[in-house]
Amino acid sequence: MIKNPIPWPNGARCACVISFDMDADSLIHIAKPDDSHDRLYPISMGRYGPTVAVPRILDTYRRLGIEQSFFLPGWCIETYPDAVEAILKGGHEIGHHGYLHEDPIDAPDQRMWFEKALDAHRRYCGGTPAGYRAPVYNINQEVVDLLVEHGFRYDSSMMADDIPYRLETAKGGLWEMPVHWGTDDWPPFAHYAEIGYMMPVQSPSAGLAGFWEEFDAAYDAGGFFMLIVHPFLTGRLARWRQVEEWLEETLNTKDVWFARLDQIADHLDQLVSKGDYTPRQDHLPYYTSPIGGSLKQR
Ligand SMILES: [Zn+2]
Repeated sequence: MIKNPIPWPNGARCACVISFDMDADSLIHIAKPDDSHDRLYPISMGRYGPTVAVPRILDTYRRLGIEQSFFLPGWCIETYPDAVEAILKGGHEIGHHGYLHEDPIDAPDQRMWFEKALDAHRRYCGGTPAGYRAPVYNINQEVVDLLVEHGFRYDSSMMADDIPYRLETAKGGLWEMPVHWGTDDWPPFAHYAEIGYMMPVQSPSAGLAGFWEEFDAAYDAGGFFMLIVHPFLTGRLARWRQVEEWLEETLNTKDVWFARLDQIADHLDQLVSKGDYTPRQDHLPYYTSPIGGSLKQR
């Protein structure tokens, strides 16, 4: 089913990551910059993440003995230092997720935003992050070049494979830890009129069922299973109770490796350096000029 399966540590059948993007209320401030400070409902919905959900999630991870990856916009790092401290204390990783959740496709001066976020990481997290996930997955070539320039080890914004693969550019490369919408909690659980996202909210069991089907297929194929979820959505009481039950069941009955994405990058680097694995490579940029634009001119 998978052409080029990755040998995981200790013969584990599947690598698993429940990655959390702690966007908090950055989403409303970037969407409604003129009056977001007085939009109390979306601010409070976002604040639920760092104040209520993250402590709950960290308790579960501590009890089960797993370390995972979190992605935080730089502004959230500065605004919620207690959550940052608790995440790091739990042995988890914090990756780069923009500064104010600005969409790289729309934000002018991407370098300014990118480096402002890096500065927040240096001041609050004790160093530069190993990984990056683009806000709304909207990575572009300028960001890829910034990642290479700043020595990032992986990106987690693209969708070109089921398992980690290499992104190569003329100036260097990094690992891609692929995402997709079927393992993201916005479609089943987000309802956010202020940013134009109006999905019918599913019940916890119906919304999560799609994730578990994705896991079953990844496990059978000896692959990679990653959730891309948000504390203010999946960290809510009823949903997280079901995730916690799934984690307990999976850890007890399956041969899985729960790891941080930087640990998965370490493992992949070791496999490649020992000659035990040859990853698939995507060479960037895919295109160097507008495709539709050139068609229009003909
Ligand atoms: Zn986000």
